[in-house]
This record gives sequence, structure tokens and C-alpha cells, in this order.
Amino acid sequence: MHKDLLRLIRGEQPVLRHLTVTFAAAMLAGLLVLVQAEVLAGVLSGRFTAAALAVVAGVVALRALLAWTQGVFAGRTATGVKSALRHRLLTRLRELGPVRLAGHRSGELVTLAGRGLDGLDNYLTGYLPSIAVAAVVPLAVLIRLLVADLASAIIVLVTLPLIPIFGALVGMTTKAVTERQYRALTRLGGHFLDVVRGLPTLRAFGRARYQATVIRQVADAHRSATMRTLRVAFLSSLVLELCASLSLALVAVPIGLRLLGGTLDLHTALLVLLLAPEAYLPLRAMGTRFHASMEGVAAADAAFSVLDRSGDEPAPDTDGRPAAASGAPASGQPRIELENVTVRYPGREDPALSGVSLTIEPGERVALVGESGSGKSTLLNLLLGFVPPSEGRVLVDGADLRTLDLEAWRARLAFVPQRAHLFTTSVADNIRLGRPSASMDEVRRAARAAYADEFVDDLPDGYGTRVGERGANLSAGQRQRIALARAFCRPATSVLLLDEPTARLDGRSEAAVVAATAELSRGRTAVVVAHRPAMIELADRVVRVHEGRVVADTTPPPRDPDRREERTGDEITTSGRAER
Ligand code: ADP
Ligand code: MG
Repeated sequence: MHKDLLRLIRGEQPVLRHLTVTFAAAMLAGLLVLVQAEVLAGVLSGRFTAAALAVVAGVVALRALLAWTQGVFAGRTATGVKSALRHRLLTRLRELGPVRLAGHRSGELVTLAGRGLDGLDNYLTGYLPSIAVAAVVPLAVLIRLLVADLASAIIVLVTLPLIPIFGALVGMTTKAVTERQYRALTRLGGHFLDVVRGLPTLRAFGRARYQATVIRQVADAHRSATMRTLRVAFLSSLVLELCASLSLALVAVPIGLRLLGGTLDLHTALLVLLLAPEAYLPLRAMGTRFHASMEGVAAADAAFSVLDRSGDEPAPDTDGRPAAASGAPASGQPRIELENVTVRYPGREDPALSGVSLTIEPGERVALVGESGSGKSTLLNLLLGFVPPSEGRVLVDGADLRTLDLEAWRARLAFVPQRAHLFTTSVADNIRLGRPSASMDEVRRAARAAYADEFVDDLPDGYGTRVGERGANLSAGQRQRIALARAFCRPATSVLLLDEPTARLDGRSEAAVVAATAELSRGRTAVVVAHRPAMIELADRVVRVHEGRVVADTTPPPRDPDRREERTGDEITTSGRAER
């Protein structure tokens, strides 16, 4: 059995119970075949009276009941396992954050969590119970045959292993084929979502038609992979059926001859003929179900690989949280230290940050400057806990960020990303995203502080206006100000992280955003990725990053505008140009 799944089932008591009932029902139903054959042979050979047929009817009814029970409980097992797995998967995704999942396309993850895991149904309701039956019933039949007729028992004993052997041979081929099928399916899902998301851009650049061709190709690959899987599955059933039929003939022909010769009594002959097929049946059933379940197993493997993407983190406990979570970090303005931190993204050779050491004192306002690609956003992602350091540590008041409860830590952060994402709900709900309980008054106050109130009031429904898909009906500057208002709407935060809030803004919006930022950073520790002089001027300290290293860390005298203007002006020309 899939060992990760087994571990998951062990941890879920109700699922374990359902699985046990499923197994018990399946095995019991299998063993009842022995009773049925016994009585039937007795009646046919005249040893029992016809009244014994009532027993046969009873056994058949009982088997039907057991089959029903097995179906119901197998269904519950499957639902329990899938929902537990989905729950963990979603928790894990939330924890890993958008950046660390960069290796996966979100469409692929959607396919995995939805359709992919549904494939487990076949595995849990079909294949697993059939394993239990195959482990018990052939053995029981064999023992009964041994008692009844040694010669037939030996023939069955010799031919029985042929089925699993052929099954395994075919299975090895199927595994590769189904894995290819599953990969094709996820690629299709991933590509499709990407295209749908990027449709406006694709249309703008006249590439929408081309994408239709690509999707057709990917779908075609999936179709041919599916056909290949089906071909192999049918072929392998044929092989197994043939194998079982020939084995049965080997048992039946000598029985017939011996019966004619008079060396075998009718009752034994009938019993052997009735029982022998039952020895092969469970193994054949297992072989058939094996193929149907492979897709689910591939999906489970993929799900566990996402769950296990903890890498260098402490092992997650059942919630998927770091095991050492030591509760909420202390409140107040923290002291943040980076100790020789190196960050490597998966699939990248050069580190995005290498050996960065930096201490940010409580209340300090730090401007991060540097060319595009130098690692500024990575540094913010590090503080947000979206990317883990590959080497070194991030300390918050002396405690390693990895041991802190990330959710509680992020509750203390006001983060305004480089490109704020607005959701298709009202402006007010967008502003209170980080604090859904905020009253309309608080939303207004936050908007005013972020200089967003004037344009919001001009919208058709004011704060109730629905923002278009991805903020389509607002300008970049307006979106940025709504994102800032979001930060203002969470007054309890003590650390401000801004990623180039004024990039791509016109002069008027920029002035508003700068003023709002100055307001927001008051009484908070702030790390602001900045390009323009106005923004850099707000900082107490300017840290320059170049190719993943801190190359300059200047603490300008508090009020010396001339000197500062000159230096920062220089920063702007290089970084500003590089960014565009
Ligand atoms: P900046 O914000 O200064 O422009 P970033 O921190 O975004 O720079 O990027 C630093 C380097 O890391 C770049 O070379 C960039 O290509 C790379 N990088 C950033 N994010 C990822 C990611 N999710 N996966 C792989 N590489 C990344
Ligand atoms: Mg950036």
C-alpha cells in the first residue's frame, strides 16, 4: 500500500475505522464463497436435501449485504482521505506562499487538488479492498482443496502465482504509461489556466489564436496518452483472463477424466470445480483494479511531494505548521536581523541573495535601492516568510523566523506589494481585506490617509463600486493608493514593508503615495524598496543591493538635505533607468 497514504489514514481515526470495516466486509464476503460452494456441491451430489438450498440463498443474501456495506464504507474512506489530503494541501499551499510555489503552475495545483485526487476513488474503493480479499481468499480455498483433493490443490498451487507474475510484468509498463497520462493532464490544466488568465495580454499582442493551437496540441497529447493507457489495460486484462482460464482447464480436465474412470466421487469433483475459479478470481480482480487506480496513485504522489516540500524547514505537524511554532511573536516594534542570509530559488544557479547580513533596529526606516533583479523583492519576501533562507537565519527579536508562528508574524506586517492585486468586490471590501471586521468609518479613514478618498468618492457607487477584474477600471496610481489604504486599515501592525510603491506612477499620484507612506511609517519599522528621491528621502538609512549583496549601507545625518539629494539622485539615475 502507498506508504504516505497509510500514514495519513493512520492519523485519521474515523477513516481508519471505515477502512477496517471495508476490509472486514470484503474478506468475509470472499470467505462465504467457501460455504456457498460447499452447500451447493452437497445439494447437487445428493448428499444434502433440497432444503439446504435455503442455506445457499441465505449465504447469497448475506454476501449481497456485505458487498453493500463494503461499498458504503469504502466510499466513506475515500471521501475522508480525499478531504484530509485536500485540507492539508491547501494549508500547505497557503503556508508556502506564492513565491515558493513558483516551480508549480497554479493550474497544475488546481488539477491536482480537484480532479487529480478524485482518481484516488478507484484506489481506495476498488484496489485496496481487492488486495485484502486476494490475500485471504485464495489461501482459504487452497486449504479447502488440499483437504478435498490433493492433485487439484497442487495444480492450483502451481498455476496461481502465474497471475501475479504476469500482472506485475504488465504493471511495470502501465506505471510509466499512466504517469505520462497524468503529466499530460496536469500540463493541460496548467496551460489552460495560464492562457485564460493572460487572455487580455494575448489578445493585445495578437497571439490568442496561436494559443488555441497550443491547447489543441496539449489536449491531443493527453488523448493519446489516455488511449495508450487503455490499450495496455485491456491487453493486460486479456493476458490475465487467458492465464486464469488455462489454469482452470488444467484443473477441470483431470477432474472430468477421473470422474469418468470412477476414481473420484461426484461431491468432491463438484466442490473442486466450484472452488477452483474462486482461487483465481480475487487475483484477477486485483489486477484489473490496479490499472484503474494508478492515476489516483500518481496524483497522491504529486500531492505528497507538495506536502513534503518543507526542505530545510522543521517537519510540519498534522496541521502543516512548523512543529516548533512558539506562538505569537512579541508585539511592539521588532528588531529584525538577517544573519549571513543566502537565498536560492529552485532551478536557479545564482543565488538571489548571498551572504546578506543586516540589522534593522526598532522604528528604523530603511530604503532599499538597487537595480532591477538585484534581490530587493526577495529580501522583502524573506521578511514575509514567503521564501526561506537557504543558508543563514532571519531573526525577529532574536527568535528565528522559522520557529515563529508565521500567521501571527504576518499579522504584524503591513505589506504593499509591487503590483497590488485588487479583487473583484467592492472598493470597501478591498480596503478591509486584512481586517474584515473594520467598520465603514475605519475604511473611510484608511482611504483618506492613503489619499484615496477623493477618487473613490467620484466612483459611481463610491465605496460600494465593484472593482473590475484585477482592478481594470482604476489607474495604477489609484490601485496603489487602495493597496496603501489596506495597510492603513490595519493599525495594529508594527512593521511596514513596501515594494516600490511609486514605480509607474504619475507625479500627482506619486506625491500622494509618498505623503501617505510618510504617515504610515510613523511609529513603525519600515523597509521600503524605493527608486525615486522623494521616497528615499523618507528613510533614515539607505541600503543598496547589487547582485544579491549589500554593497552600501549609509546612514545619512538626520537633516542634511543637500548631501542626501546628491547621493540619492545618483541612485535614481542608475536604478530608475534599469527598472524601466
Ligand atoms: P528586485 O526586486 O530587486 O528586482 P528580485 O528579488 O525580484 O529583484 O529578484 C532577484 C533575482 O531572483 C532575480 O535574478 C530574479 O530573476 C530571481 N527571482 C526572483 N523571484 C524568483 C522566483 N520566484 N523564482 C526564481 N527566481 C526568482
Ligand atoms: Mg522587485
